[in-house]
Amino acid sequence: MKTALFETIVTEIQEIAPGVFTISMPRKEDFRPGQMLALSLNKKEEPRLYSIASGNKAKEYRILFNIKSEGFLTPRLAELKVGDKLYCSHPFGSFYGGNNADWWIAAGTGIAPFISMLEAGMAESKTLIHGGRGLESFYFADRFKTILNEKYIQCSSSLNKEGIYAGRLTEYLSTLEKLPAEINYYICGSSQLVVDVRDILIQKGVPYNHIIAEIYF
Ligand SMILES: Cc1cc2nc3c(=O)[nH]c(=O)nc-3n(C[C@H](O)[C@H](O)[C@H](O)COP(=O)(O)OP(=O)(O)OC[C@H]3O[C@@H](n4cnc5c(N)ncnc54)[C@H](O)[C@@H]3O)c2cc1C
Repeated sequence: MKTALFETIVTEIQEIAPGVFTISMPRKEDFRPGQMLALSLNKKEEPRLYSIASGNKAKEYRILFNIKSEGFLTPRLAELKVGDKLYCSHPFGSFYGGNNADWWIAAGTGIAPFISMLEAGMAESKTLIHGGRGLESFYFADRFKTILNEKYIQCSSSLNKEGIYAGRLTEYLSTLEKLPAEINYYICGSSQLVVDVRDILIQKGVPYNHIIAEIYF
């Protein structure tokens, strides 16, 4: 089925870390935090998918993306200016966050749907495990820290800094003796991250149907 795309405009674009951008555009419809948009610069092009990274009451949809150097869309998205046209779908997808003490697990731009959930007021009692390379790759870290405090766990194998687990997020998860089995685990990131995290969670007794994943391939 072909995705219907509607013309919209860029209301803000910011480079929040080297090669990593947020773009905002007017919000046309209601959505559930965790949903995504299909975007393109031209109705004839194959759109790419982006999680909405803003709260569901905000006036704008925000997306978060990194430039793929040989990519078809992202190098051109990064060149957009305020007022430029782009094409956007209805919000869709079923990676909805719940209201329990669930865990959120993300690496890189996989943090995007959790920014939406955070800004929608769903972060209370959540635990977030966030993997990144450098300090600048913990996008929106200050906001997560403010709400989640010690339940915001940063992991990086390339940083040696107090307060940050020195290793990949999969290593951090492997060190945990027991994981709560009654909550849900939301994972967002590359297919490799999702597979690796899912394996660890299952080994530690988390039921398969408590693992909900969004894969950015
Ligand atoms: C459900 C979902 C949600 C997503 N949400 C986000 C999000 O919130 N933020 C985000 O940043 N991304 C997200 N993505 C990924 C996003 O849709 C794009 O795939 C990504 O931004 C790259 O788009 P692109 O057109 O620049 O790259 P593409 O042209 O699609 O290329 C992707 C990669 O393949 C490589 N490549 C392309 N052509 C070739 C070739 N011929 N040979 C070898 N390598 C090649 C490129 O170097 C690049 O690294 C999501 C994906 C899915 C499925």
